[in-house]
Formats: sequence, C-alpha cells, structure tokens
Amino acid sequence: MTSPSVSPTAGAPELPASRRMRAALLYGAEDIRMEDVPIPRPGPGEVLARVDVASVDFTDRKVYLRGRHPMITIPGLFGHEWAGTIVEVGAGAEGRWRPGQRVAAANSAPCLPEDGALCRQCRRGRPSMCETIQYVNGAFAPYILVPRRLASVNLHPVPDGTPLDRVVFTEPYACALHAVRRMPVLPGDAVVVFGAGPMGLFLLNALRRRHGSDMVVIALDRLDSRLRVAKAMGATHALNTTAISSRDAVQAAVGRPDADVVIEVIGAVETHREALSLVGRGGTLVSFGGVAPGQTLPVDIGHLHYHEIAIQPIYHHTPVDVAEAVRQLVAGEVPVERLITARLAMSELKTALQMVADRTTLRTVLLPDPV
Ligand SMILES: [Zn+2]
Repeated sequence: MTSPSVSPTAGAPELPASRRMRAALLYGAEDIRMEDVPIPRPGPGEVLARVDVASVDFTDRKVYLRGRHPMITIPGLFGHEWAGTIVEVGAGAEGRWRPGQRVAAANSAPCLPEDGALCRQCRRGRPSMCETIQYVNGAFAPYILVPRRLASVNLHPVPDGTPLDRVVFTEPYACALHAVRRMPVLPGDAVVVFGAGPMGLFLLNALRRRHGSDMVVIALDRLDSRLRVAKAMGATHALNTTAISSRDAVQAAVGRPDADVVIEVIGAVETHREALSLVGRGGTLVSFGGVAPGQTLPVDIGHLHYHEIAIQPIYHHTPVDVAEAVRQLVAGEVPVERLITARLAMSELKTALQMVADRTTLRTVLLPDPV
C-alpha cells in the first residue's frame, strides 16, 4: 500500500495531452475494470473537475456486490464521494466557476426551477424525493464531469486553507444532517444510535451540533474501536452489544429499557426489528440504514397505536443539507481526522472496498496515483 498525499494546487490544473484517463467502471457484481476513457468536455453549464480526493463508503461496497443500485447506471463510471479542483468551465457557468477553484460536491441534484415546472415532490418541498433526481458517479477517476444541475445547486467552493480530505465527506455528512434535521428530538430526550460505523458517527456529530448537550445519546455497536470514537465524538454512553442485549444496554444507560428516538444505521431487517423494540412511548424509529427493497418486517400495529410510536424512514439529502455540510466541514466542526483511518492510491480501489467489508477501516480515502 502506498500513502500519497494531496498535492498543493496552484492555478488551473493541466489536462494530459491525450485527453484520456484511467477510470474505474463498474460492469456488474464484483466486476470493476480500470479502463482508458476520454476525459469529457464540459457542455453548457457544466464543469470538469480534477478529483483530488475520493472516499469509499458502504454504499459503494453494496453496489459493488449487487452490481446494481438506483444511483448508478451499469456499466458506468463508479464512485460518488469526491472533492477536487475545477479544470474547465462550460459555456454559461463562467459567472460562478473558474478553473483552479477548489470544490466540494454532492452526488445528485434535484430538478431546477429554471428548467420549467418543478416536479411534484420538489414543489412539495421534498427535493430528496425529486421525481427526476440526477445522480452523478465517476469519483474513482482522475477527472469528473459535473453536470449543469449539480453545478447549479450542489457544488460548493472550498477556501484555499481547507484540506480537501475534510470536505470529501460532503455527501455522507449531508445525509446525516438531513436525518437529524427531520427527526423529532426534544430537550432531554434519550437517542439511540444503533450502529457506530462511519454513518452512525456522522449522525452523532450532527445530533450534538444541532441539539447541544441537552440530550442523552447512546451509541450501540459490536466493535470497541468504533465505540471509543463514538464516545470521543459526544456519545453519553457507548456500549458493546456483543455480550448483552441492546435492551439491557439501554436499560443500563438510562434506567429504562427504551428511548425516545432510535436511529437504525445498519440497514438490515433484524436490526430494524431490534431497534423498533427499543422505542418507548411517543417515540420514533428512524430507519436510516438502507435495506434492499422486498424485505418485510411484521409490526404490532396495536402497540404502535397505543404508544404513538412512529416509523420515519429518511433517505438522502437536500441542497440545504449539502450547503450546511460544506459549512460545518470547512469550519472544522466535524472531526474527520478520527474517521479517516486509511489513505490509498486510486488504483487500490478493490483493496479499499475489501476493507469496508472487513470493517478494518472507518473511512478510506483514495488519492491520485503518482504520475
Ligand atoms: Zn424534482
């Protein structure tokens, strides 16, 4: 394994004379190929950026194993978390973007008012449910084309003094902010973060930023290494559920076997069932971890009714959350140094995906291969 570092940026990056690059393409389940492809030219409203740092997340691992996902066209360019430097700017985007500018981006954009009528969900104020949402992939490559929609609403400038590996987490942290913004946490509540992997830790940070100290946060996981980070990032209690039940863990933490808000961050049916059993009177199960469609969970509707227990799934992010994510990341309000546990060269993508599966890393960032 190599440990390259992000090279300092001065002015506009130069493109290779061949105008070609080696990019990761996903062809199907466990079928990634590094291919020689043309570097795209930005059209009207678009920009081309150099990827200075990319990040590998659990979704990438899922997509790699399944060979399909709503966010990606297969075969196609792979990777959705990145930060970089603008190389070229398409017609009409010059007013806002210039070559040499450092940027952070989300991985999607909802429809835009200037394109005519917004879709019904965007009109309802639910852009995370946009009916024509545009996903953007291609972070595991030296250059990425930023489409017009993304360049309009979900691309943000990054100050020169901010390391780009800090803002590479714009997309996942925006998801955490979106969830925390919408979940009903009241002063003095007990909140369970069920799963202290990277997303659980982002949620923990987002909870503390939004609600301060007037809240008990209980992090549950089976890895002590992750629980130590959870504690350092603001969990009131960080408990290992390898040997005790989650119910006993919550009882030990707050003196009762349930909590007001329980966030399922693992994305499995069994953990949803267990998380739901931890929700007390008037409480909410936040279904944050994505489960593949088609899997079902029987629920006691009478119990839900007489205890007013809500199940609130929360997916993705909105432009408001993306902007706030960049602001907090730039301001140093997210301890990303605790989350980045490996740095590899882009060509070591398969190793990085395996590390996600083995849980030997919290977050691995990928840096450009030495030229
Ligand atoms: Zn829309």
